[in-house]
Amino acid sequence: MRAPLENEFSWSLSRARTFEDCALKYWFHYYGSWGGWEPDAPSEVRELYLLKNLTNLHLIAGDTVHRAIQRALEDHARRKEPDPEKLVQWCKAEMQRAVHESLEEAWRERPKQCARLFEHHYGPKPQREFLVRIAKKIGDSIRRFFTSPAFGLIRETDPGEWLPMETLDTFQFEGTKVYAVPDFACRHRGEVILLDWKTGQPDERNADQVVLYALFAAARWGADPDRVRGAPVYLLNGGGFEPRPVTPEDRTRVADMVRRSIAAMRGRLKDPVTNAAEREGFAPSPGHACRSCNFRGVCAHAR
Ligand code: SF4
Repeated sequence: MRAPLENEFSWSLSRARTFEDCALKYWFHYYGSWGGWEPDAPSEVRELYLLKNLTNLHLIAGDTVHRAIQRALEDHARRKEPDPEKLVQWCKAEMQRAVHESLEEAWRERPKQCARLFEHHYGPKPQREFLVRIAKKIGDSIRRFFTSPAFGLIRETDPGEWLPMETLDTFQFEGTKVYAVPDFACRHRGEVILLDWKTGQPDERNADQVVLYALFAAARWGADPDRVRGAPVYLLNGGGFEPRPVTPEDRTRVADMVRRSIAAMRGRLKDPVTNAAEREGFAPSPGHACRSCNFRGVCAHAR
């Protein structure tokens, strides 16, 4: 019999944003739903686990575009010219598959593999115009990637200088495992370049994400932090980018932010050594976050 998985404490930007949104939502996501994949899990834990895995059409569109670009880069590295239109069609087929999986409730058997849409669970049901808009967003993102300055730069680089990345790679930050992986990284003219594809609108918070990637590059690849440049690449805005140096002040600021966030999360735990958490330690913050909260259906505080 395999040993049960350990709920190890870790940190990521999305985890920090969930915690900032609402501590109870954070507890549902990282603690209350833990173990819900087991066949003999208590029903409330199973329910939280199924809700934790809810996704939505914007998230699926973004993820699909990321996977399509990854495929294009793999083709490019093998000197096989990627075909943008084939990738757009592939993305649309992936979206349709997700919608069908959700409608057919395939997620009941395989919650991790099959999509369950927030729109189907909580509504409003996606209308045709909305689906057309999402399909357009996907098509625009993929086509603009191929004409973007970012892809222009990638074409100049030697694939032998690209840095290896695992989707769920981590580095150690003062004893805590931190998840932070850029979408593309390479050595180029004595520097490390980090790029991150964005299918949404520009967001100031993404600046901190790039600095976090620089900390990752230093810890994981031994990059000289003074020779790291990074940028979010907003595909819908044309895929332009300005890779800027990550200054010592940037690194200090983001390291402080991570340190404070970890301390705040751990401060709520019943036992920080074992990462044990009790729901009572995580007070809800009903408000704006409730509208898109996966757990609103089981939360007595939802607004
Ligand atoms: S519904 Fe609102 S109060 Fe309840 S967990 Fe979600 S964000 Fe927090």
